[in-house]
Amino acid sequence: MTEEKKLLKRPRGKVRLVAGKCIACGARCQSVCPVNGIEMSEAGEPQIVLDKCIGCVKCVKACPGSALEVFYTPEELADLAELERQGSLPTEEIDEEEKKRREYVAGFRGVWVFVEQTEGEAARVSWELMGAGGELARALGVELCAVVIGNGVEHLCREAFGYGATKAYLMDHPVYEHYRTEPYLDACCHLIDRYKPEIVLMGASGMGRDLAGAVATRLKTGLTADCTGLAIDDKRNLMQTRPAFGGNIMATIMCDRFRPQMATVRPQVMPLPEKSDGASGAIVRETHTPSEADIFTKVLKIITDKKGKDAVDIAGAEFIVSGGRGLMARENFAMLQELADELGGVIGGSRSAVDAGWLPPERQVGQTGKTVRPKVYIACGISGAIQHLVGMQDSDTIIAINRDREAPIFEVATYGIVGDLFQVVPAITDKLRKAKRSQSKC
Ligand SMILES: Cc1cc2nc3c(=O)[nH]c(=O)nc-3n(C[C@H](O)[C@H](O)[C@H](O)COP(=O)(O)OP(=O)(O)OC[C@H]3O[C@@H](n4cnc5c(N)ncnc54)[C@H](O)[C@@H]3O)c2cc1C
Repeated sequence: MTEEKKLLKRPRGKVRLVAGKCIACGARCQSVCPVNGIEMSEAGEPQIVLDKCIGCVKCVKACPGSALEVFYTPEELADLAELERQGSLPTEEIDEEEKKRREYVAGFRGVWVFVEQTEGEAARVSWELMGAGGELARALGVELCAVVIGNGVEHLCREAFGYGATKAYLMDHPVYEHYRTEPYLDACCHLIDRYKPEIVLMGASGMGRDLAGAVATRLKTGLTADCTGLAIDDKRNLMQTRPAFGGNIMATIMCDRFRPQMATVRPQVMPLPEKSDGASGAIVRETHTPSEADIFTKVLKIITDKKGKDAVDIAGAEFIVSGGRGLMARENFAMLQELADELGGVIGGSRSAVDAGWLPPERQVGQTGKTVRPKVYIACGISGAIQHLVGMQDSDTIIAINRDREAPIFEVATYGIVGDLFQVVPAITDKLRKAKRSQSKC
């Protein structure tokens, strides 16, 4: 007896939200729904109107966070099982647009880090990015490459190998002696056009911000500035996390339709990877150079910005004693300086302290100031607003001194002292002095 095939239509199912996966990307799902079947909650998460959903899966494909999935009723599941048994289920339905996107994206491979240099010396942020880039490259199963542009800078390729790169693209020519947007932009775009990396990372320094913006504009791709986190999703997209809306939320930004995906990261945000001295790699020398006559910008003189005693880079300090509005007056920072001197550190502060004119702007820690990662960060009279925390929360040890036990700074502190800073700070300085004195006697 022959088994008769039951004539079944493939059920389309309906869409639902996968708990905890929505990244509040800005309602991409809602914008592609052809039947107005998605409403957004106050938290920016989609709510599927099941009566309207036709299971077209446009929203599922548009979702950068894989937060939407199709589900079936028990009857539909039974029909699917039957179709599978009959061998009449298509493996995967991909529309033309998605097919083209996949082909385009597949043409780009590799993670690149731009090695920022001045007079042949690399900026530390470039090596910090090598660590982050290495993790991305491992997740993607691709090479980590350095981009070195300058004059007499081949040694930086070898340094890059020490920090994990396996290949370095080198453009070495007198025209690249000093950073200028036009020739560096031209060099970067030439390399990217030719070798097609999927990710390009740059430091969020003056140079990196200038160059990254120019490159992304010329290549018509996306750029996320000042990222604090980088990761890869299950579709090989770069998830770029950064504070948004004045630092009140962390947004994860994706660039899933264009390549390369570009991001800048501020100094000290990523940890410096360990350097391996014997590491080697391949150097790809590129000779494409613009003619000096075609470059409008000329460097006439380099004037270094040294301000004597005040020329302190708090971003590189190991000990920071930071003061906020709780210090009450500029002269009270002398008390913090004494503690910093005992520790061999520097003083920094919150934006309130800078706005009040108690500290110069280069000492400000936080979202619109510097990001710091010292061994010890002592926060005195600082409440711990999110815009301050994003600049210091990765410090190895955080000591908070505040008279308000509910102050948010205590949530990130390793040690918290509830008390009046005008008593606590001199007491700590005094203890340190005594400890040092008794040590020197031994
Ligand atoms: C877009 C944007 C960007 C910003 N960027 C930054 C930034 O980069 N960096 C930054 O710091 N802020 C930034 N801010 C400002 C931030 O929101 C806070 O207003 C600021 O950090 C508060 O500074 P504060 O903690 O010194 O002052 P307050 O919030 O006023 O806190 C003072 C603290 O001192 C304590 N205190 C007072 N007297 C004593 C005492 N005698 N002993 C012990 N404790 C005492 C109080 O309990 C209080 O907790 C930004 C804000 C915006 C909107």
